[in-house]
Amino acid sequence: MTSSQKRIAICPGSFDPITLGHLNIIRRSAQIFDEVVVCVMHNATKTSPKFTVEERVDMVRRAVIRYPNVRVESADILLAEYAKRFENAVLVKGLRAASDFDYEFQMNLVNKRINPDLETMFLTASEKYTFLSSSVVREMAKYQADLTGLVPSELIPEIEEKARTWRKN
Ligand code: ADP
Repeated sequence: MTSSQKRIAICPGSFDPITLGHLNIIRRSAQIFDEVVVCVMHNATKTSPKFTVEERVDMVRRAVIRYPNVRVESADILLAEYAKRFENAVLVKGLRAASDFDYEFQMNLVNKRINPDLETMFLTASEKYTFLSSSVVREMAKYQADLTGLVPSELIPEIEEKARTWRKN
């Protein structure tokens, strides 16, 4: 890498939906790196997503609009393959608990097999968001709990709206 090359962070995830925990990692990455690419992965969720990829991308875009060096993309390929599109990128992941570490450690080894040059860096979750995940948000939304402080406030109405359809099933 030459000193003129931009340092790029890729923040991947399913963002189903984006939470303030995700946003905290994205914001901190944007302070450390020249550019951040948030990549909404089609295939990242362990369960089938509740929001379409277009909805997830749109919500993330609106949540990061105030950060000029952050852009949002989506990918329907393996993350390690996607990262090859960038000359000088590292993956940045958030770590909440030991269980995140076990999973991420394994993923890192898999990614290295596909793309040996790809490095992963970890930021520890902020204390106030260690409990927060998209699945917590989905569960709370489903049972009409208050989402304030869990997701960006401008997204609350549409998450609540969508959750109404989950209660019918
Ligand atoms: P989730 O685990 O909420 O379903 P994703 O699969 O979209 O989220 O996770 C994308 C990335 O965001 C992962 O690196 C994950 O560890 C990180 N992340 C998710 N929630 C938080 C949080 N509350 N604090 C810090 N990092 C988080």
